[in-house]
Amino acid sequence: MKRFFSVFFVLCLLLSLILITASASKALTFKAGTYSASAQGHNGEVVIEMSFSDEAVTDVKITEHNETIGIADLALEKIPEAIVKAQTLAIDSVSGATMTSEAIIKSALACVEQAGGDADKLLGGKRVRVSSDNHILNDVEVDVLIIGGGGAGLSAAVSAAEEGARVILVEKTDSLGGNTLRSGGVFNTYDPEGQKDIPMNESLASAVEAVLNKENTSSEQAELKAEVQKQWDEYRASGRSNLFDSPEWHALQSLDAGDNIGNVSLMRTLTTHSLETKKWLTNHGVAWLPEIRTVVGALWNRSSQPVNKSGADIVAALKTAAETSGVDVYFNSKAENLITKDDRVVGAIITNALGEKVTVLAKKGVVLATGGFGANIDMRVRYNKHWADLSENIKTNNHPGATGDGIVMGEAIGAHLVDMEWIQLIPLHPVSGGGISGYVNNAVYVNQEGNRYVAEDERRDVLSQSALDQTNSVFYVVNDQAEVDRVGVPEETIKYMVANGLIYSSDTIEGLAEEIGAEPENMVATIGDFNKSVESGKDLFDRRTFDQKISVPPFYAASFSPAVHHTMGGLEINVNAQVIDSNGEVISGFFAAGEVTGNIHGTNRVGGNAVPDALVFGKIAGLMAARGE
Ligand code: ADP
Repeated sequence: MKRFFSVFFVLCLLLSLILITASASKALTFKAGTYSASAQGHNGEVVIEMSFSDEAVTDVKITEHNETIGIADLALEKIPEAIVKAQTLAIDSVSGATMTSEAIIKSALACVEQAGGDADKLLGGKRVRVSSDNHILNDVEVDVLIIGGGGAGLSAAVSAAEEGARVILVEKTDSLGGNTLRSGGVFNTYDPEGQKDIPMNESLASAVEAVLNKENTSSEQAELKAEVQKQWDEYRASGRSNLFDSPEWHALQSLDAGDNIGNVSLMRTLTTHSLETKKWLTNHGVAWLPEIRTVVGALWNRSSQPVNKSGADIVAALKTAAETSGVDVYFNSKAENLITKDDRVVGAIITNALGEKVTVLAKKGVVLATGGFGANIDMRVRYNKHWADLSENIKTNNHPGATGDGIVMGEAIGAHLVDMEWIQLIPLHPVSGGGISGYVNNAVYVNQEGNRYVAEDERRDVLSQSALDQTNSVFYVVNDQAEVDRVGVPEETIKYMVANGLIYSSDTIEGLAEEIGAEPENMVATIGDFNKSVESGKDLFDRRTFDQKISVPPFYAASFSPAVHHTMGGLEINVNAQVIDSNGEVISGFFAAGEVTGNIHGTNRVGGNAVPDALVFGKIAGLMAARGE
């Protein structure tokens, strides 16, 4: 988290220039002098000092605050500057730092009142928006327009620019990265070098056979299954004892985990290109943890993670690549609708950072990479058919910009929407606020009573529904010190989390049960049974992924409850990332990638498949658009 904040801080500093849009208010009068006032921010009082001449605000300084570095920087730095430059208090709150922004404006208002100024005049007039960038988009024609600056949009932009296209990327928020920035950057791929020391076991073998023994669901799937069967037979005959994996098994297993409604060719595209995309990221500067494991819902030991355990590593690398390849990025620039001409998408109308509507024409193609609709409660309630409740009662861990804009824009010009009803809840949304790791290899999930209730390496939909069925819809992830050491959580972070109630800790399992209010006898029996399963490889809940026992004190627990995480539905695309209309025809000039697309994952996205999905199809979309195909 610390690393996330520091990367974010650096990004903000690097980009920190201001947009000032309002014309200066006229005929202001004040009692010249310096005044001070404070108001409650997010973490405490924000104190400001404000200086006035007879007719202007001359300086605003934040003299004290306890706001979070990395999140509040933009507000703390740019709102005071904006007040002086624009002589106004009509300044929009910075998204993600609303309470800090409001505290600054409230304190400034109090200072204006002390100086005998006209607060209404300062609050009226055209509103100003501060931004991390001063680049204002105007009417323009380029080769490729990319809409959305998450993982998919960034990779599309880089790949189009590397192909020689003149590229503009518009991002509606202040920052790049979308959900990839917020994620752990987990990237599933077959990776023979990285997986070579991972052992196979009989439970994992039976998982392969269980999928191979299922009914075929389509001729394409049968063909894929036959390839995996051949690989599996060869693997068995070879006597190898390390993990079985291949792009085909990754595809077959992922399709099966989505109940085989995903498109086989698209899934094969994802799993076939994921390793080269990981290498592409490596070439652009991403360093990876040496150990490949299984994150929640990933089903297999093929989850790689950047060294800082954050998607910020991936975003930083792609951002640098975008800069060096000449991509022109515009923040606070929101695509409103697509422009078509003779059945071809030729551009989009964008509201720029000044609130003006401008036209961007794209000679070669438009790539839609606006993400899903996890943060749009109306849309998720409208499309949901499978969860009891997806209203505001269920939180989301998506960024606030995940509002389904691209789905609406695409549908408006005839794009075919698919799988919209399938919405993923991530089981691991923090309640107590902390946690040791998202890996399932050495985690046990217990309910409020201290009992296990599910195989921790199950599909995410199964894990989420079973968690919702527990008391208060809450469960606890139990780890031991061995896992802390393995994932390298610093001692001071553990101390901070324990001291602040983000995680619970005890030297004994009984003590840990007391800490979380569970029945000690149950917890002792639960962990004892789990440790026996680690020895035997046989588990009451048919868990297949085992590493070491939960046996090294201190023991840790953190509480979680499911939250909306990924929307599987969206625009139908083909393997070239071209958008398909409701007649099954390609819409020319129109490409889409990432969570805005719909026909890849089926009913349930496998954990760790989202970042490769966004990046593999982002790269393809950028390349195809740049070639004008
Ligand atoms: P993906 O993983 O597919 O890249 P994300 O949700 O991570 O999806 O990123 C999507 C990005 O698109 C976010 O940064 C979001 O703010 C941006 N975005 C969403 N809607 C618009 C829009 N109408 N105009 C410009 N950017 C948008």
